[in-house]
Amino acid sequence: MSFVKALTCRECGKEYPKEALHVCEYCFGPLEVSYNYDEIGKVLSREVIEGRAPNMWRYKELLPLDGDPTVGKDVGFTPLVRAHNLGKVLGVKELYIKNDAVNYPTLSFKDRVVSVATSRALEMGFKTVACASTGNLANSVAANAASVGMENYVFIPNDLEKTKVMGTLIYGSKVVAIKGTYDEVNRLCSEIAGKYGWAFVNINIRPYYAEGSKTFGFEIAEQLGWKVPKHIIVPMAGGSLITKIWKAFNEFHKLGLIDKVDTKVYGAQATGCSPIVAAVKAGAELIKPVRPNTIAKSLAIGNPADGFYSAKVMRESGGTGEDVSDAEIIDGMKLLAETEGIFAETAGGVTVGVTKKLIESGRIPKDESIVISVTGNGLKTQEALYDVLEEPTVIEARLKDFDDLVESSGDRYAMEG
Ligand SMILES: *Cc1c(COP(=O)(O)O)cnc(C)c1O
Ligand SMILES: [Zn+2]
Repeated sequence: MSFVKALTCRECGKEYPKEALHVCEYCFGPLEVSYNYDEIGKVLSREVIEGRAPNMWRYKELLPLDGDPTVGKDVGFTPLVRAHNLGKVLGVKELYIKNDAVNYPTLSFKDRVVSVATSRALEMGFKTVACASTGNLANSVAANAASVGMENYVFIPNDLEKTKVMGTLIYGSKVVAIKGTYDEVNRLCSEIAGKYGWAFVNINIRPYYAEGSKTFGFEIAEQLGWKVPKHIIVPMAGGSLITKIWKAFNEFHKLGLIDKVDTKVYGAQATGCSPIVAAVKAGAELIKPVRPNTIAKSLAIGNPADGFYSAKVMRESGGTGEDVSDAEIIDGMKLLAETEGIFAETAGGVTVGVTKKLIESGRIPKDESIVISVTGNGLKTQEALYDVLEEPTVIEARLKDFDDLVESSGDRYAMEG
């Protein structure tokens, strides 16, 4: 049974039936799924949720399907890691990592949105799914479509990391690399969606797709013992995830599952592609599109679809936006790996780097709870680390050679204690 009330225009409030629609025909505003919260409140409680399997579908009443999911049934419920070591380095008392680098099946938070979108596409009778992607979405569409034998097309900019492209091709997906930026890929896909009648998960069925991101926020609140953190740092590409975490916290509050929402929300981008952060810093309403140039390719969207709404969330919650250079991104990846044993992708380096900046500048206080959003896996963006990490030392298979190494190498191989 579905608790969806309608697709509602975010600008003028006009309601539409729950079909494959994404823009308001009156004002061109984006459509968003709205729910009958009174009805949900009658069936959903902490106990009901806690009694369900550990995946994102434990919040199914707050997701836009008519029936049970048919794709991605095991996605979600990733660890919320208490990060004592990183917390010590940053000088903060209560730090957590929400770790979607280990999300099932393709190691990024995109599995959340794709399982909702693909399940919904099947409900609406689509035979083919597709996407315009900066990499992780491609991996997830390809894998999840393969898992149900659904035909799928993936469109990417042709400068993506080789490892990420391979992580799409392996599933037998039809991959088209476009000579251009993500924004150009996206524009072309809008035309293809209209002409071929496919379900483009992040274009013509975007309202359903985007709802999947809420589960990242639901899980954090539940894992903290049914409360929200005081601060959360979120990486932004199109700016959808950050708005959906905010929606998630507020829905839980509306349903009485948590007492209050007093979270400050911070958006993180790479300096080489920071149109949303630039607008927030300038106090501007309008997002000025940019041409991306950063190693954080998964976040390289120069004309973010939800830029305006993500800036609004930062403003309303009392948070802000910050950006970091490519060098700071690498430092962030290394810092997270060395302190917590978590290998995040470049986007994780962005979030960790931005968190460090916000704490060091005193904008996030040291004695309040902080959640860092890690949204993707470092094994998929290894290219960013070529020539950055030290090479292993090569020796012959002789004890003497190792002894010499220990003696001569100073810190690196010296024995402790
Ligand atoms: C897509 C993506 C994001 C951000 O997504 P938006 O909702 O478009 O802002 C963050 N991190 C990773 C790793 C991603 O792939
Ligand atoms: Zn409208």
